Amino acid sequence: MQYLRTKVCILGGGPAGTTASLFLSRYGIAHILVDKYHFPRDKVCGESFDGRVYRLLEELSPGAVAALQKEQRLLPTWNYRFASKKVDLSVTFPASDLPRLSIERLQLDHYLWQQAGRSEWATVLSGVSLKATAEETNCIRLQGVGLQIDTDLVINATGAQAVPANDPSLFVFSRTYFEGVSIPREQGLEVKYFYDPLPVCLFMCPLSEGRYNVELAISREDYIRMGQPMDAIWKAILENNHDLRQRFTHARALGKSKGTSLTVQSRINWSAPGVIYTGSSAFTTNPITGLGVGNAMSMGKLAAELIRQYHDHPDFIGEVTRRYHKVARKKYRNILLLNRAVNFIQRHFRLLEPALAWGLRLRLVQQSLLKKDLTKGLIDAAHRHISSTQ
Ligand SMILES: Cc1cc2nc3c(=O)[nH]c(=O)nc-3n(C[C@H](O)[C@H](O)[C@H](O)COP(=O)(O)OP(=O)(O)OC[C@H]3O[C@@H](n4cnc5c(N)ncnc54)[C@H](O)[C@@H]3O)c2cc1C
Repeated sequence: MQYLRTKVCILGGGPAGTTASLFLSRYGIAHILVDKYHFPRDKVCGESFDGRVYRLLEELSPGAVAALQKEQRLLPTWNYRFASKKVDLSVTFPASDLPRLSIERLQLDHYLWQQAGRSEWATVLSGVSLKATAEETNCIRLQGVGLQIDTDLVINATGAQAVPANDPSLFVFSRTYFEGVSIPREQGLEVKYFYDPLPVCLFMCPLSEGRYNVELAISREDYIRMGQPMDAIWKAILENNHDLRQRFTHARALGKSKGTSLTVQSRINWSAPGVIYTGSSAFTTNPITGLGVGNAMSMGKLAAELIRQYHDHPDFIGEVTRRYHKVARKKYRNILLLNRAVNFIQRHFRLLEPALAWGLRLRLVQQSLLKKDLTKGLIDAAHRHISSTQ
């Protein structure tokens, strides 16, 4: 058994945990970073990331985006297409804006993990699953097979929390990589809604080297009601949709489909005594907005900044957890609002579709969509509308 003692332990080496680690290292703060898997490890994800991912990658290592692009691991895109029966919204952001980044999570998470492991301030351990055991005086004890860590503070970056299987906001996903899909003129993330054979949201994210990440999202209730495997649902969608079928005429699936589930939460626990929650462990992000990894990385950075600020404070743990709770709640409250809104739209899409089609024709909405990232543009437009009517 290996025993370690540290002031800060980061549990989980996804984007939230590695970003926290990289910033702690930059601030010269010794810490331990642990993940239960060895990297590279796969993770089912839409793999389309907002501008903050670009900014944070560059902040951590200037030139990182260009280097990953040169190695054919990353693809920048400026287009976004949202389509259903009545809505067809195609947004091209100005080339001067930061692009959305498409990169496989296998690649992105491995890159971040490797960067974190290079620092002398980080003790990086993989292949160990840790759990907090009984609280000790003045520390939190984390235990796994062959390893025990006593720490003052835990940055919980373990990803999505377990949710009850009957949670009504639970969605099931299936992801398949394809090659040979015909690429539209304006290449970028495509989000499409279908009603037949059941309400399904399809994400198509272009990746480097002409590959596509194709993901189906279905509410768990509908999925159970339908009682068919995802492959059968995908086949039915292709049969019912001529344009899509054309695009997949020469497509070849690369390996098997992989599934996951996700709950779209609108309530969060930001902190507990001695623990702060970052990324998906704090809240599960709506993949439609594609803001999950951007949030996770920015929460990791926030955690590291507060740890630096209160490092020598006599009430280090109390100050960090209190401040984190306050700042994070304020900073990410829009995401919760957005989660609620998207959840509502998702559930009642058929009824809301005509209003949505009308709203998207409004100049105000179009301008804000073009100005900023899609979701940020909508939120800003809503805020401006609320303040102009007050
Ligand atoms: C279907 C789907 C599609 C998505 N699409 C997008 C998208 O297109 N764009 C986007 O930005 N976001 C997307 N998201 C959200 C995104 O995946 C998350 O926001 C992101 O993974 C959060 O990063 P994280 O570091 O918090 O957690 P994770 O990436 O989940 O990392 C958590 C890590 O903790 C480790 N771990 C867990 N428990 C332990 C333990 N006990 N001990 C040690 N290690 C542990 C795990 O092995 C894992 O490596 C999607 C999510 C889903 C489910």
